Amino acid sequence: MNIACLQFNPIQENTYVVWDDTAECAVIDAGNASERENAALERFIAEHGLNPVLAVNTHGHFDHALGVEFVRRRYGVPFAMSSKDSFLLENAAVSGSLFGVKIGPMPSAPDIDLERTPEVRFGRTALRVIPTPGHTPGHVSLYEPESKTLFTGDTLFRESIGRTDLPGGDYSWIMRSILEKLLPLGDEVRVCPGHGPETTLGHETLYNPFVVEVLNDEVNYRND
Ligand SMILES: [Zn+2]
Repeated sequence: MNIACLQFNPIQENTYVVWDDTAECAVIDAGNASERENAALERFIAEHGLNPVLAVNTHGHFDHALGVEFVRRRYGVPFAMSSKDSFLLENAAVSGSLFGVKIGPMPSAPDIDLERTPEVRFGRTALRVIPTPGHTPGHVSLYEPESKTLFTGDTLFRESIGRTDLPGGDYSWIMRSILEKLLPLGDEVRVCPGHGPETTLGHETLYNPFVVEVLNDEVNYRND
């Protein structure tokens, strides 16, 4: 699987274009938010001879969805996301104004509901859908087992985790997601997060302060 990371919009969100040797591609968390950024994404896809077949989101926050309508309409592809995050798309204009970001056209709901979809595909590649609630109720991570690559959205960053103080966020759930769903995939797994640089699960086990304090029993994340 080939991976390109394009950083878009004032929140510096990571949009990933992923493709295989069939040249079919998926756009993960399309955050392109201006004519210039739309053109940059379009040019990247054209220059690599790619054929988009899917827009897929880890979650519904506006900074990860600003470019979804552009991708849907420009390439006529379906949009996959958990329907549990549809309320965030509906609130995008309000959330955007709090961050000083103007919100253009947004999808109102996903075409493919990842609550009922165990994997999404492009070309010969399957991305496994792993529910990882906590940052948002419908947050998912996407895992490609062959290359051991994990797209964590805003659940897990290099040496940090996503905010849980926004509507629908929950600290106990994000830690369950990280410790019980993601870390068991293995130390060698490559992590492509929704913001900031890449990492590995092994690095996070050793150096992520939110993970380390739980592994050291300094914090009871389970709330029980
Ligand atoms: Zn987010």
